Amino acid sequence: MRKYFLLTLASALFQIHSNAQTVVPCATDEIHQQILEQHPELKMEEQLMNETARRFVPQLNKAATIKYIPVVFHVIHGYGNENISQAQINDQIRILNEDYRKMAGTNGGASTDPLAVDMEYEFRLAQFDPNGKPTDGVNRVNNYALSINATDNTKASIYWPSDKYFNIWVVNTILNNSGSQNSIVLGYAQFPFDRTSRPTTDGVIIRSDQVGVIGTGQQSQAGRTMTHEAGHWVGLYHPFQGGCGSSSSNCAVQGDQVCDTPPVASSASGCQNGRNSCSTDNPNLPDLIRNYMDYSDGNCANMFTKGQKTRADGIMPSTRSNIYSAANLSNIGINTDGTYKTIPASSKKAPFNFDFNVSSLNGSGWFTEAFTIQPDTAWQINQAIGYNDTKSIYNRNFLTQKLNSRSSFSSASYDISALTNPKLSFAIAYAKRISASNDKLTIYVSDNYGRTEEVLKTLSATDISTADVTASEFVPANTGQWKKLSYDLSAYKSYTNLSVRFEFINVRGNNIFIDDISVATPTSSEELLKESLGFNFFPNPVNQTAQIKFNLSSSENVAINLFDISGRLVKTIAQADMPAGSNTVSFDKAEINKGVYFLKVETSKGAFSHKVMID
Ligand SMILES: [Zn+2]
Repeated sequence: MRKYFLLTLASALFQIHSNAQTVVPCATDEIHQQILEQHPELKMEEQLMNETARRFVPQLNKAATIKYIPVVFHVIHGYGNENISQAQINDQIRILNEDYRKMAGTNGGASTDPLAVDMEYEFRLAQFDPNGKPTDGVNRVNNYALSINATDNTKASIYWPSDKYFNIWVVNTILNNSGSQNSIVLGYAQFPFDRTSRPTTDGVIIRSDQVGVIGTGQQSQAGRTMTHEAGHWVGLYHPFQGGCGSSSSNCAVQGDQVCDTPPVASSASGCQNGRNSCSTDNPNLPDLIRNYMDYSDGNCANMFTKGQKTRADGIMPSTRSNIYSAANLSNIGINTDGTYKTIPASSKKAPFNFDFNVSSLNGSGWFTEAFTIQPDTAWQINQAIGYNDTKSIYNRNFLTQKLNSRSSFSSASYDISALTNPKLSFAIAYAKRISASNDKLTIYVSDNYGRTEEVLKTLSATDISTADVTASEFVPANTGQWKKLSYDLSAYKSYTNLSVRFEFINVRGNNIFIDDISVATPTSSEELLKESLGFNFFPNPVNQTAQIKFNLSSSENVAINLFDISGRLVKTIAQADMPAGSNTVSFDKAEINKGVYFLKVETSKGAFSHKVMID
């Protein structure tokens, strides 16, 4: 039996081909066999558990009892694309929950197979780490060596207690132990019966490009490599385990030990409708190619069976009951109904202004994160340049060669619930390096330490420019090469743990500086108007020409006049009906003397002035 099984397994492993490389969708069996060879005593554990599963009798017509599983993603990276975004991880959690709950409107929900069931599991990113500190459920670890050709060694190096968390390790590549140099292992899991003796490797390891279907997540597996691996984690075998067996096989003790999954000769691939690889079953039924535990494409797979649910329900209480217990969930910040517990309000209260007048962010609660770029070219404190002082935070993007690299900095968490009309304001200085520079700055807000985020604003290179295209390294020469931007936070005014994250993506631009980040209730109506128009004047000082940019919500008459410091009109720059949307007005200093002037801008919503320097 065992020998036959290994032959079947070997043939299964080399069936799916992608380009020149062999794809091994799951190495769980292979690793499991190696472990059993090293630890023969575990065979007994496996047999005991299988017997426990067989003895389990499900209650009929029982109301759904959802088991909530707290999850941590350990993202092991070398600042490459394997350092996937929180959004991509959240996308994987969504897919897991859809598949394990057979949710309406999803692949699984659409299955009309009478065997298809709701497995009654839901997955939740942890809200507190093992030390009780708030977490976004993602543990990022910079260790390139552990991310490449990863093995159980990677898992054992970085884990949270496996009786409390479902550990998922995200890596660049996984070692293929079968000896082929030219194959890609997508992931593997550890069965529940190994947890007690091998607690530090319990969980699922998966390639970063198999996580979710956004970001670097590949569409071809539809995020269901993880669905499959989590199936092993709850105790399920492959339906092709043991191959066809014989007509006298007992489905309860052979193959995948689940009787409503027909025997399968070898793993499926693609979406082989009508496949019937074994005739040892009676009646002879077609293979369940849509079973998540086979190897069909992710977009083809759509079901777990009743028998698989019964097996998992029989195994989980004796091996993993602590993880979904009320006490454990409570410690990790999850209520027994699966909702998240409210995080206590931050002791840091808005209004606040953070001017980066620090030698480092340590201890401030503010922090930088380099994702797909080395930290030394990502966000850091600039000790010489600031908006109203000599320090700011900047990204020395001029030196960055890697296109689309991501890095960000985040604020501490603040309680803003006492503010009436909270507004985020900051000063920014940036130049394109070439006219085609297409850098992007996205501002996110979160009320739960980044576990979930909303986009407050996405800004293009043009939106954030405060100076002309600068081929040499850009450093703002004076306050005229900065501008203030401001965004309404009214939609988030109930937040008691507001954090703001600025993520910058490099697409051939120059350096970017940010300073004086504040969250407050606005006071000056002039400032409010200026900010609501997205007003920008640059360069300033004016050497020869400058551009005045602003956005109108509807077409209207706008007057722009230049006055000297004693209030005399020097020049009318514009007096015209202007269209809704983005407007640009050119200014030529012509015969205006060097000095300080004020630009007065009048719109139907009011007027404001802006200080201008002529060189
Ligand atoms: Zn598998």
